[in-house]
Amino acid sequence: MQYPDSISKLIESFSKLPGIGPKSAERLAFYVANKMKEEDVLNFAKSLVAVKRELMKCPICGNLTDKNPCVICRDTNRDKSIIAVVEENKDVIAIEKMKEYRGLYHVLNGVISPINGVGPQDINIPSLLERLKNDEIKEVILATNTTIEGESTAMYIAKLLEKIDISVTRIARGLPVGGGLEYADEVTLLKALEGRREIK
Ligand SMILES: [Zn+2]
Repeated sequence: MQYPDSISKLIESFSKLPGIGPKSAERLAFYVANKMKEEDVLNFAKSLVAVKRELMKCPICGNLTDKNPCVICRDTNRDKSIIAVVEENKDVIAIEKMKEYRGLYHVLNGVISPINGVGPQDINIPSLLERLKNDEIKEVILATNTTIEGESTAMYIAKLLEKIDISVTRIARGLPVGGGLEYADEVTLLKALEGRREIK
């Protein structure tokens, strides 16, 4: 038996989400159809549209924002001589939670991953190079995850910056190898930032 059209479409939409296989997509779609209140479904649909319509990537740092530029880039009290390069938005949030780091960010929105067909040009690297033309910047902290892809992305960027007169550091100490920044507790993350080492 074929599913009604609207269910098939919803299953298809759910299955486009990361970590959702066909079975889970089916389960979620039927949950929406059978169990969710209409009001909750409407709110859900509105939020989905709102995050796309109201948010954008900050043209300077790539962070997700509803202001142009984002609140961090426009904050005059931040140390504009340091940029922490992170993979995703959620890494900015993880570092911000510590309330210790006062520099700026650059969100790559991904990592270099040949297996997944993601090259350096597919992530936010060109805009980083553009930003570094500004003399104010003295240090770039490569704060990508400690996964193989995070490490190789950090190394790739370090190589690009080899000839530029900026200190390049890599977070390391205490972070579990293979881990995402957002899974590290605040103390570990703080130590990793403080213990960053010069890589060129
Ligand atoms: Zn920004």
